[in-house]
Amino acid sequence: KAKDAGRGVYHFFDAALNKQVRTLSLLKRELCDALLQDQFFLEYQPQIETSTGRVTGVEALVRWQHPTRGRVPPCDFIPTAESTGQIAAMSEWILREACKQSVQWAAMFGRSIPVAVNLSAIQFKRGRLVETISTILSGTGLPPASLTLEITETVMIHDVDEVEMQLRKLVTLGAKIAIDDFGTGYSSLAHVRQLPIDQIKVDRSFVTDMLVNHRDAAVVEAVIALGRNLGVTVVAEGVETREQMEYLRAMPSIDAQGYFIAKPMRPPQCQTWLSKNLRPDFTLPAPVIADP
Ligand code: C2E
Ligand code: MG
Ligand code: MG
Ligand code: MG
Repeated sequence: KAKDAGRGVYHFFDAALNKQVRTLSLLKRELCDALLQDQFFLEYQPQIETSTGRVTGVEALVRWQHPTRGRVPPCDFIPTAESTGQIAAMSEWILREACKQSVQWAAMFGRSIPVAVNLSAIQFKRGRLVETISTILSGTGLPPASLTLEITETVMIHDVDEVEMQLRKLVTLGAKIAIDDFGTGYSSLAHVRQLPIDQIKVDRSFVTDMLVNHRDAAVVEAVIALGRNLGVTVVAEGVETREQMEYLRAMPSIDAQGYFIAKPMRPPQCQTWLSKNLRPDFTLPAPVIADP
């Protein structure tokens, strides 16, 4: 009996593994088609300076409109694209598209509209990241300082010195580097000290509960202080409510990104948002200050 059960489990495992392999190769083929058939597009989410409401830039976020499955979220295909190596080609398309868009908006609005693009850790391992970005910058004519490259601390699972060398080359090109999802990875402070970064993005998980959990608030405040002392900008991710926004506005210096300001938008909607919110006189309503 035990033997039967054991065999049953084995068969089940075998079938599951088999299915997983088939799903992976199907997804791989679909990602290949997606690139060839323009099924990817970008949405842009604005970032603002909390104290003034000034727009500091937009983050480009990739979207996949699958022909039959509809919209597939990035968490359901980026990991596969990373494991198959397809992320390199995808990311090249994403970078070029985002840079072109930034150039177009800068011309339209008469000021730079900096753009941030997410990079995968794997891109620091294989291939020619620096050359690719350099080629895209010169090809699109985007001033390098208008491009921010967002990396997460998972890049550190690779050779940190190798990552550092590539980041320094990107900085030499003139691009900016941001650490994304800060606070969720390993030994953050060592990386912040070692790497040439311009921006820290406080992970949404700390922002979500900072008004109800004083420990989360303490982390947000500590990162703001860290940013100030290092001379790097700090962005709070996932600002969803007016209360969170007002709390952040009362802090010394922090930028914000999140649904309260704007959701990620397709280019035409983002353009409309920008044309409304780039007004030089734009200010958020004054925060409500409770009587002491
Ligand atoms: P991320 O870079 O931290 O991007 C922020 C994510 O938070 C986005 O999810 C965005 O839609 C979402 N978000 C923004 N504001 C709010 C808010 O107020 N509340 C909530 N609940 N969520 C908010 P998205 O687009 O699903 O992307 C998820 C992750 O996928 C990104 O996290 C990033 O790590 C990755 N990703 C997205 N686009 C790309 C890309 O072009 N290349 C690579 N390598 N990764 C990407
Ligand atoms: Mg990001
Ligand atoms: Mg982020
Ligand atoms: Mg995040």
